[in-house]
Amino acid sequence: MRILLVEDDNMIGESLQKALKASYAVNWVRYVDAAQLSIRTENYDLMLLDLGLPDASGISFLQDLRKQGYTVPVLIITARDTVSDRVLGLDSGADDYLIKPFDLDELEARIRVLLRRKSDRREPLLSYGEISLDPATRELKYKEKSGVLSGRSFPLMQALLQRPGAILSLAQLEEQIYGWNEEIESNAVEVHIHSLRRKFGADLIVNVRGVGYTLRQKDQA
Ligand code: CA
Repeated sequence: MRILLVEDDNMIGESLQKALKASYAVNWVRYVDAAQLSIRTENYDLMLLDLGLPDASGISFLQDLRKQGYTVPVLIITARDTVSDRVLGLDSGADDYLIKPFDLDELEARIRVLLRRKSDRREPLLSYGEISLDPATRELKYKEKSGVLSGRSFPLMQALLQRPGAILSLAQLEEQIYGWNEEIESNAVEVHIHSLRRKFGADLIVNVRGVGYTLRQKDQA
């Protein structure tokens, strides 16, 4: 089990890492920037997230992750203790919220609950016509073809499948596949669509000229 700890306070970070490393692999980062990079290269089972971070707000980071379809359990650890802070944290996509200073035993118990829940949970398959996408494995199936989506191809297909039948504009798709403070590469959406069509068939995604992109319906010619 691998945990990402996002915490800028050295004392707290060190003590948490020390306490948790007996049971888990813990990667500790101090910045949102580093956390973003880390979740792209590692598969985590849980994230411990402080809210006051030096380079960005933990809440916006979390909202952004959920918007992109990142489903890993997040436990907020923060000194912000008002009811409205807690509500905001949970509404932003956190699975649990623990107020500093907390007892290590309680933190570990809550981590166990979230990990247990995660292993029980099976995310529903997203499907439309002959297209299906398993969010847990990132495997896309279309007609007789199947393959695992890498990088930003996954949030792109996920965005299209979450609103089946809708035409999404280039800007809407860019918003889905990029983080809130990431620089958008020009043509990124087109590049991913091109690669998806090459792998799964040219008719997987339909370009509605001047409007955007949509998925091919089963009965569509
Ligand atoms: Ca902090």
